Amino acid sequence: MPETPQEVLKMIQDRNIELIDLKFVDMLGIWQHCTFHRSLIDEDSFTDGVAFDGSSIRGWKAINNSDMAMRPDPTTAWVDPFMEVPTLSMICTIVEPRTGELYDRDPRSIAQKAIDYLIASGIGDTVFCGPEPEFFIFDDARFDQTGNQGYYYIDSVEGGWNAGRNEPGGNLGYKIANKGGYFPVAPTDTLQDIRSEMLLTMGKCGVPIEKHHHEVASGGQCELGIRFAPLVNAADYVMTYKYIVKNVARKYGKTATFMPKPMFGDNGTGMHTHMSIWKDGQPLFGGDKYAKLSQLALHFIGGLIKHAPSILAFTNPSINSYKRLVPGYEAPVNLAYSQGNRSASIRIPLSGDSPKAKRLEFRCPDPSCNPYLAFSAMLCAGLNGIKNQIDPGDPLDVDIYELSPEELSKVPSTPGSLEAALENLEHNHDFLTESGVFSEDFIENWITYKLDKEINPMRLRPHPYEFSLYYDC
Ligand code: GLU
Ligand code: MG
Ligand code: MG
Repeated sequence: MPETPQEVLKMIQDRNIELIDLKFVDMLGIWQHCTFHRSLIDEDSFTDGVAFDGSSIRGWKAINNSDMAMRPDPTTAWVDPFMEVPTLSMICTIVEPRTGELYDRDPRSIAQKAIDYLIASGIGDTVFCGPEPEFFIFDDARFDQTGNQGYYYIDSVEGGWNAGRNEPGGNLGYKIANKGGYFPVAPTDTLQDIRSEMLLTMGKCGVPIEKHHHEVASGGQCELGIRFAPLVNAADYVMTYKYIVKNVARKYGKTATFMPKPMFGDNGTGMHTHMSIWKDGQPLFGGDKYAKLSQLALHFIGGLIKHAPSILAFTNPSINSYKRLVPGYEAPVNLAYSQGNRSASIRIPLSGDSPKAKRLEFRCPDPSCNPYLAFSAMLCAGLNGIKNQIDPGDPLDVDIYELSPEELSKVPSTPGSLEAALENLEHNHDFLTESGVFSEDFIENWITYKLDKEINPMRLRPHPYEFSLYYDC
């Protein structure tokens, strides 16, 4: 992969590239793009950026102040595997056209500022993030003849395919039993080839790939494993991951979704995120405290737990996110930490006690988030914990799903809805803004956007389940 503008320009020559596709992430975490002829990209493009109209991008500039520039990052260049015409793709940061300053509503710029803040704090110089996005593959017509249960099986969970295959009213045609799709080999696993192609395509686009497997939910839930990376790179990889998953699925006549809870009554889709801080090439999370963590890591956890009710507005930013955060589906409901405990929102993986491997896994995030904002908010919360030496309390080494209501009442829980998370964010966001990572304007704009464009429109629309409850009233 190229490192410098000169190497990118050479790659354009060597690979007979005709077009350059410049991509950037919008506020909500969706890639936007514009494609340029090769003659328009030169060395200056990498410093001054390339001009575009930012007024029509959701949540960005007003029409009377719309000129913006996208500055490609040469280290993100790869040849787009889905284009007929040889096309080079690069990820951009958004800058003000005259001053070259980072645009304060650009999520990639916010992530860059989060790293600058970490360095300025003197605590560390690198934060490694290891995101684990999951997703569902459905047939494009939302009904899969091959046995992967799509949306339309959902309502029959109780009396239909979930019942034994030979029971009356049970599974008449052969379909995989509920939760029967996790890990068995083909032909039960019908998605092997498609996942292999997704994984290898990611590898060709510079994402450090590790593995792939079917996930626990029936109906084609999958996960591709990628290696941890510094924060901005990790967020770039999540964007590339989603792009490749959706485009390979399309090639197979399928569709992939990252929505957090597409199926009622089965596991949702998470994006657990592992994190650790390093300084001068040394890991800072390993030590001699609980689970071989350092005091610094425990304070980081203290900050994460304290501010989780607010940061979920970024890590779990959709209305649908909160349908995943319910007991019984390997998704966290309580704000607690524990070694190797998948029911806690912060898990300390058991894999190896070497200080280099020491990290925490925050299990709340889901892939409807904008990864740049989610990782930056997590980092700010953790750094706030370190600076203020926030005690995370005792670990919770029990299956939290099994606790009695009385025991449970002592453990703080995740917000129950997006509205609640936004309300927390409104009242507690100094830890995001005092560092200059997020601006006050960004937080306000985020809350207003979510209320006006998602929560209120949803509240006003009759939901299909209301018909089931009230149609015959
Ligand atoms: N799908 C689960 C979730 O919603 C996670 C399963 C796993 O542990 O990988 O978070
Ligand atoms: Mg998983
Ligand atoms: Mg995990």
